[in-house]
Amino acid sequence: MKWYKKLHWQIIIGLILGLIWGLISSAVGLNQFTSDFIRPFGTIFVDLLKLIAIPLVLASLVVGVSNLNDMAKLSRMGGKTIGIYMITTTLAIVIGLTIVNVMQPGKALPEETRMSLMESYTEVVDDRDQAAQQVLDRSPLQFLVDIVPENFFEAASDNANMLQVVFIAIILGLGIINIPVQKGRALINVFEALNDVIIKIVDLIMKMAPYGVFALMAVVIIDLAGDDLSQALNLLRALGWYCLAVAIGLLLHVLIVYSSLFKIFSKMKLRDFFKAIQPAVLLGFSTSSSAATLPVTMERVEKNLGVEEEVSSFVLPVGATINMDGTSLYQAVAAVFIAQALGMDLTIAQQLTIVLTATLASIGAAGVPGAGIIMLVIVLQAIQVPVEGIALILGVDRILDMLRTAVNITGDAAVSVAVAHTEGKLGKLHFDDESDIN
Ligand code: ASP
Repeated sequence: MKWYKKLHWQIIIGLILGLIWGLISSAVGLNQFTSDFIRPFGTIFVDLLKLIAIPLVLASLVVGVSNLNDMAKLSRMGGKTIGIYMITTTLAIVIGLTIVNVMQPGKALPEETRMSLMESYTEVVDDRDQAAQQVLDRSPLQFLVDIVPENFFEAASDNANMLQVVFIAIILGLGIINIPVQKGRALINVFEALNDVIIKIVDLIMKMAPYGVFALMAVVIIDLAGDDLSQALNLLRALGWYCLAVAIGLLLHVLIVYSSLFKIFSKMKLRDFFKAIQPAVLLGFSTSSSAATLPVTMERVEKNLGVEEEVSSFVLPVGATINMDGTSLYQAVAAVFIAQALGMDLTIAQQLTIVLTATLASIGAAGVPGAGIIMLVIVLQAIQVPVEGIALILGVDRILDMLRTAVNITGDAAVSVAVAHTEGKLGKLHFDDESDIN
């Protein structure tokens, strides 16, 4: 197969062309056209992915749990998954804190830029602050209450309720393995068929991926640049050191933590791991949403990394909801950056508080664009840094969101390999033409 016909290259080409189109569109005043006639294709693409996420998680997890065939295995796998997620998240924050303390990007921000940024984003800051306040007003155990739905259809009606759907699938699967095998088999067959159908639909949707990604990228650029490209470039230049700190931190996390995890738990070459998950990572990058990317992540991890469904159907949806290493690392860098820019020196105790709150804030962040910056408010409040400070970083948040989402997805995939290995569920690879990794 010619290189440019391979899916990941097509997505990369779509991404680059989208970027170029966005720049041209901003430079020559075609933003209205791009918004009216190109944006909808990006939206349709993301909506299609979101549309199949809930049925896919439900069907594959019911099949997964009924294959596991025993409650003890499930709880062991659950404990292991959450444990590894917590460890990688903590490491991400430690890496973020190290980088930001070494590079000190906040101290490099000119006073003038700081003042003008604070002025221009006050309203948006208020919005984010209110959203975070709603989270803070909830009782400490509300997250547990939220996992258990009171109504099946309500749970399935909103992608933000992914953990509720995971819960429903688990109890459904457990119910099935506790009734006579023949009766249960009929229901499992239905879910198996549904699962296969949805996997086929993922393949179909992915045919649209290069175009969808083109549209998404073009829109990101016009939203960022507006009609004044030079202003956007100035902003990027002013916050360049901060963006670089986040990017270096993310890169180190992938290279150190995920690579080690993968090397320990898989015999596959590291290069092949990255190739295998490339389409999912690129989609995460262009959609800024781990939740929307979930169907593709599941498909790649199962087919191209050989993680069996019993593991992937549990580890990945839970990961897309609670495991956000990229987000937590970014929150650590952002919080310290803001403190530095506002002339505040953080004590060791405050930095340790960041480790704790950024872990919780990343768990609480939904897998949707911009969720990380809302939860950043909570981190800032905990270390007594004025939340208005997020005005400093709002302008470049979308770009960093793309990077951190790509890392979040890589993390989920790496952990699913680790869990699968320890459970003896790292099986054969099932390539097909469209998803050939080479
Ligand atoms: N967009 C991120 C995700 O979906 C969350 C965030 O950091 O805003 O994984």
